[in-house]
Amino acid sequence: MSATVHDLLVIGAGPAGYVGAIRAAQLGLSVGCVEVEAALGGTCLRVGCIPSKALLESSELYHEAQGGLAKHGIVISQAGLDLAVMMKRKDTVVSSLTGGVAGLFKKNKVARYHGHGQITGRDGDLWQVAVRAQDASVTQVLAHKLLLATGSVVSPLRGVELDGDRIGTSTEALSYPEVPQHLVVIGGGVIGLELGSVWARLGAKVTVLEYTDRILAGTDAEVAAIALKLFKKQGLEFRLGVRVTGARTQGDGCVVECEGQEPVLCDRVLLAVGRSPNTADLGLEQAGITTDKRGRIEVDGHFETGAKGIFAVGDVIAGPMLAHKAEEEAVACVEFMVTGYGHVDYAAIPSVVYTHPEVATVGASEEELREAGRTYRKGTFPFVANGRAKALGQTDGMVKILADAETDRVLGCAIIGPRAGDLIAEVAVAIAFGASSEDIARACHAHPTLAEVVKEAALAVSGRALHM
Ligand SMILES: Cc1cc2nc3c(=O)[nH]c(=O)nc-3n(C[C@H](O)[C@H](O)[C@H](O)COP(=O)(O)OP(=O)(O)OC[C@H]3O[C@@H](n4cnc5c(N)ncnc54)[C@H](O)[C@@H]3O)c2cc1C
Repeated sequence: MSATVHDLLVIGAGPAGYVGAIRAAQLGLSVGCVEVEAALGGTCLRVGCIPSKALLESSELYHEAQGGLAKHGIVISQAGLDLAVMMKRKDTVVSSLTGGVAGLFKKNKVARYHGHGQITGRDGDLWQVAVRAQDASVTQVLAHKLLLATGSVVSPLRGVELDGDRIGTSTEALSYPEVPQHLVVIGGGVIGLELGSVWARLGAKVTVLEYTDRILAGTDAEVAAIALKLFKKQGLEFRLGVRVTGARTQGDGCVVECEGQEPVLCDRVLLAVGRSPNTADLGLEQAGITTDKRGRIEVDGHFETGAKGIFAVGDVIAGPMLAHKAEEEAVACVEFMVTGYGHVDYAAIPSVVYTHPEVATVGASEEELREAGRTYRKGTFPFVANGRAKALGQTDGMVKILADAETDRVLGCAIIGPRAGDLIAEVAVAIAFGASSEDIARACHAHPTLAEVVKEAALAVSGRALHM
C-alpha cells in the first residue's frame, strides 16, 4: 500500500503542534499530525497548565472556605475535602479540552496519526516518517515539510530515584490519591511553587528545597522576594541554598539527602528542577539535525533546522518553556512557510506564576536592564492603595513598570498581586506596540478595577501617582 503524502506533517500535538497544524490547514495545506499519546493537547492540556490551574482554583476555594470567608461575614461551620471529586473535576476539565482539540482537527481536516513518529529518511523530495503504534505496527507517512513539536520532559536530578509514585514529578503531583502529610518539593521554580501551593492549601506540610539563594530564578528579584515572604506567611517552608544529593523511598516514606545537612524525612517528593527538550528516538541524526549543548533543536529565524524542509517550534527549541510561546512560534513558522512572513515578539512574552497572589512579568527585569547597561525609570504602585483590591480583600503586592530613561518606552513590567496574570496582558500589548509609560498612564482605566494599579504604576514612572 502506498504511503499517504501530506504538504506538512507535524510531530507532537501539544500547543506548538496542534496550533501549527490548525494554522497550516487554515492556510490551505494538507496536514497530518502524529501524537504518541491517546489524548491531544500535549503536556499543557494533559499534565501541565490546565490540570494544575484546575487544582489551584479548587484548592484556593477550599482554603477560602476554611476561614478566609469569615472576614466577608460568611460563616461555614466546617468545610470538608472530597479529594476524589476535586480530582475528577480536574480530569473533566482536561478531557473537555483535549476532546476539543480532536474536534478542531476534524473541523480543519487535520489527519491524526496515533503513535510515535520517527524521521526515517528521504523519498525523493519528500520526508519519510515512521509512525509506530502501541501494538508495534508501523505506518509510513510522507510529507513535503515536517514540523517537529515534540516538547519537553522532566529533567532528572542525579541521586533522585523517581519511582512514579512517592518520588515523582509534576505528573504524579497532579494526581496524589490522598493529601500528603509532608511533601518535599525539590526546586523553587514555577511548577514547584504552584503544586506546592495546591497541597499546602489542602493541608500538607510543604518544604521547598532550593539550590540557589532565592526562588523563581529569572523573575524580577524584588518581586520574587515579596513572593517568598507571602508564601512563607501561607505556611510553606523554604530551605534555600540547599543542594539535594539524593532521594529514595524508605518504608512507607521517603528520605531526601542534602549536602552538609540532616536528611529530610517526608511521605512524598516532587522533583521540579526544570524540563529538557524531548528528542528521544525522533531520528534527528538520520536527517542531519543538530542540537545545542542543552539538547534543544537548533533552528534559524524561520524555525527551519539544518535539514531543509524540517522545522521545529515550542519547548523543543530554545526560549522560555511556555505554552503561549510555543503557539506563537507555531503560527509564525507555518506563516513563514506559506506566506513568507511570520512574526514572534520575544520581548513581549508574558510569564505567569498562578500562586496566590499571582506573579506575572513581561519584558526585561531590573536585573537584566542593569546588566545590559540600560538607563531606565521605574514606577511602582501597591495594591493596598487600590479600591477594588480592598473590596476583594486582596491587597498584597504591587505593580512595577520599567521605562527607558530617555524615550519612556516601556521595557518591562513585574506584577505580584491579585489577577496579575490577567493584568500583565495590558503591558504585553503596550510593549508589542512600542508604547510609552505615558501612553498607559493617559489611557482611561475603569474604576474600580485592579487595572488602575497598572495605570498608577505608569504614572509613578514620572512621579505622578495620584493615590499615593
Ligand atoms: C505542571 C506544569 C504546569 C505548566 N503550566 C504552564 C502554564 O501555566 N502556562 C504555560 O504557558 N506553560 C505551562 N507549562 C509549560 C507548558 O506545558 C509547555 O511549555 C507547553 O506544553 C509546550 O508545548 P509544546 O507543544 O512545545 O510541547 P508539549 O506540550 O510537551 O507537547 C509535545 C507533544 O509531543 C508528543 N511527542 C513527543 N515526541 C513524540 C514523537 N516522537 N512522536 C509523536 N508524539 C510525540 C508528546 O506526547 C506531547 O504530546 C506547564 C508545564 C507543566 C509540566
